[in-house]
Amino acid sequence: MSKNYFKEYPNSEGYFQDYGGAFIPPVLEAEMKKITDAYYSISKSHKFISELRSIRKHYQGRPTPVYFCNRLSEKYGARIYLKREDLNHSGAHKLNHCMGEALLAKHMGKKRLIAETGAGQHGVALATAAAYFGLECEIHMGEVDIEKEHPNVVRMKILGADVVPVTHGLKTLKEAVDSAFEEYLKDPINTLYCIGSVVGPHPFPMMVRDFQRVVGIEAKEQFFEMTGELPDKVVACVGGGSNAMGLFSAFLDEPDCELFGVEPSGRSLNLGDHAATMTLGKPGVIHGFKCYLLQDEKGEPAPVYSVASGLDYPGVGPEHSMLNDLKKVNYKTASDKETIDAFYELSRLEGIIPALESAHAVAYALKLAKENPQDSILINLSGRGDKDIDFVVDTYGLPKK
Ligand SMILES: *Cc1c(COP(=O)(O)O)cnc(C)c1O
Repeated sequence: MSKNYFKEYPNSEGYFQDYGGAFIPPVLEAEMKKITDAYYSISKSHKFISELRSIRKHYQGRPTPVYFCNRLSEKYGARIYLKREDLNHSGAHKLNHCMGEALLAKHMGKKRLIAETGAGQHGVALATAAAYFGLECEIHMGEVDIEKEHPNVVRMKILGADVVPVTHGLKTLKEAVDSAFEEYLKDPINTLYCIGSVVGPHPFPMMVRDFQRVVGIEAKEQFFEMTGELPDKVVACVGGGSNAMGLFSAFLDEPDCELFGVEPSGRSLNLGDHAATMTLGKPGVIHGFKCYLLQDEKGEPAPVYSVASGLDYPGVGPEHSMLNDLKKVNYKTASDKETIDAFYELSRLEGIIPALESAHAVAYALKLAKENPQDSILINLSGRGDKDIDFVVDTYGLPKK
């Protein structure tokens, strides 16, 4: 990987080699260019950088710790470490890019943030950022998801956001994206559309990656300080891919660190039962960018499923798509069952209840640990599991002691 990796990728059109770009209606082209130009100039300014640094320290509670898992390591063999994004304010890594996007909106003189949300995690993080900066916030959410994710809907409302129910089509994430986009087009001057992962048209995959890089920069330094070396293996779950990109970005040019992105193989590898985009998808276009994509026989985005709703996306970030082709990252899977087992293992051996998304990374790391007892493994624990406890216990019950 060249020294100028972050300057080279994406290129000025937003491409990570074959992937990314901006497949958007002409009316949006000027808006996206404005956001890109503003990002390039504002994000390099001393004022922006020092403000973001101060927010991370005093509001978000960064740096989040790297923690050595004593009992898990003893049981599974390898030395296992967690980057504790579950301890980031609001309970997951998502606030890292939401605070960055909201700060950019403020510097651009915008009054309102708008986004879609599926399970509500991105909506809650963005509503948090909007409250902090005194911006209006409108979150579009499918009616089906509003029913399912009641606590997050309440959180968003407490934080002062408007939750707009989306009532057409399947009434889930894809329709919510369309609806939020439509609303954004009505007033792009005063509004910033805030994407929830390293996906969407240029410049979002780049911006979100850059705001998440703090995770990797901190973790690399902390791991080295604790052990005097770098981890042999680095593991993160991949939905759209923001928490994974954040951690991996610090290790891309370390030939001795092996990187693993873990996607959900769900109930089975039949189409509709999983969201294993890298393993089973092929290149296509979704939501304004090109990436590996799970497609039906007509080439349309296929229905996907995962026990973790944050991983339930038929596409994946364009940078991951490139890193897959370059074989810089190994993309693997964990099933629902392996994930639930890992959820309880981490809870009972370390006293840490992980988000079901993060438990996918833990599940695959435990496999690696058994096969490579001499190695050290660093896992991105992208979020905490409070949001998942009722679902897990009601669906799977408690394990025997
Ligand atoms: C949303 C979410 C994810 C998936 O998003 P990425 O962009 O792939 O990181 C993973 N973990 C948690 C806790 C989440 O909330």
